[in-house]
Amino acid sequence: LKEVREGAARFFVPGAERIYDAPVFYNPVMAINRDISVLAVDVLKPSRALDALSATGVRGLRYLLETSVGEVWMNDINEEAFNLILRNVELNGGKIVNSSNERAVFDVSGKRAVVNRGDANRLMAEKFRYFDFIDLDPFGAPVEFLDTALRAVKRRGFLGVTATDTGVLCGAYRNACMRKYLAVPIRGELCHEAGLRILIGLVARYAAKYDLGVKVLLAYHREHYFRVFLGLESGARKADESLSNIGYLWQDRSGKFWYSREFLPSASNAYGPLWLGALRDEDFVASLLKKSQEAVLASNKTLEFLRLLSDELDVPFHYDTHAIAGRHGLEVRKLAVIMENLKKMGYRATRTHFSPTSIKTDAPFDTVLDALRGLQ
Ligand code: SAM
Repeated sequence: LKEVREGAARFFVPGAERIYDAPVFYNPVMAINRDISVLAVDVLKPSRALDALSATGVRGLRYLLETSVGEVWMNDINEEAFNLILRNVELNGGKIVNSSNERAVFDVSGKRAVVNRGDANRLMAEKFRYFDFIDLDPFGAPVEFLDTALRAVKRRGFLGVTATDTGVLCGAYRNACMRKYLAVPIRGELCHEAGLRILIGLVARYAAKYDLGVKVLLAYHREHYFRVFLGLESGARKADESLSNIGYLWQDRSGKFWYSREFLPSASNAYGPLWLGALRDEDFVASLLKKSQEAVLASNKTLEFLRLLSDELDVPFHYDTHAIAGRHGLEVRKLAVIMENLKKMGYRATRTHFSPTSIKTDAPFDTVLDALRGLQ
């Protein structure tokens, strides 16, 4: 074991050559994911939070130490992970209140930490409408935990969901996407944004059956994963409203794409169903940015990434200038020049976190082509 620090937490991690060989999982690259999650929890002010798939406990510990949350549950099915979380809570000043083979309760500076060993679905089924915030950070797809999470969270609570099965959501394994996400994925330059929207669309459809609507607080793609923060809204009308943001995407060989909000696709060769609503709530992201000024962030990339997200035009899909130039035999131009051309034509245009060669704009496809050709 070696001791590491991230944010305000100190904790032991197994010393392994490669992260996936370690008996308990810890990936330092995910510090940005955890930084943003800590800021989100700080802004949302839950009383009770659950880190359902906790591994070393780093995420739950950071919530406990860096936000005002009063009670944090850290759960893992793996016995070594359970034992490591116990040690890590103690390392951060946890005093044991009571314990059994499967559960231990600690006092950490007046806050409650509960460490649990077991299947996340079993725990969430047991704690019906108990948590204000649930974090699902699994290996791969979160789908097998969604139903119980939607039952264990309060009806006006919040969810943080990670998916690391990028290949599935991006269309490399079409059947797997259909099986797990009940959606047809797209390949090519739109795959990451479409994958993110497929994930949100699935949560929205799962939530709707409990008469719950979803509000996207922030959703993004980075490196090998997708991350979504959702606020739940109670009531059949809210569920209907969120289903009205479900629709489909089409793309032809020129790269031109179009989309439409509809429950079933009205034309063939559709990709989806997927979420066509907003990918962020302006107030929420403004609060995250404000908090990030005072917070002790673990990664020096978090702030820059949050700024990129907050400046992005929030419209469905984007134009990859390299891909479109390639499809039309055009010369590749600088993004700044293309964005300037579009602005001169009266449209909005920004960079996007989905790709360094892409722009988001409210201009139609033909106008984007003109801007790429240098016509104004
Ligand atoms: N959240 C952690 C972090 O930020 O470092 C990483 C979690 S790791 C990706 C996923 C964890 O889920 C593993 O430790 C694994 O043992 C645990 N796990 C897998 N299936 C589970 C289940 N059904 N119930 C509870 N834990 C499970």
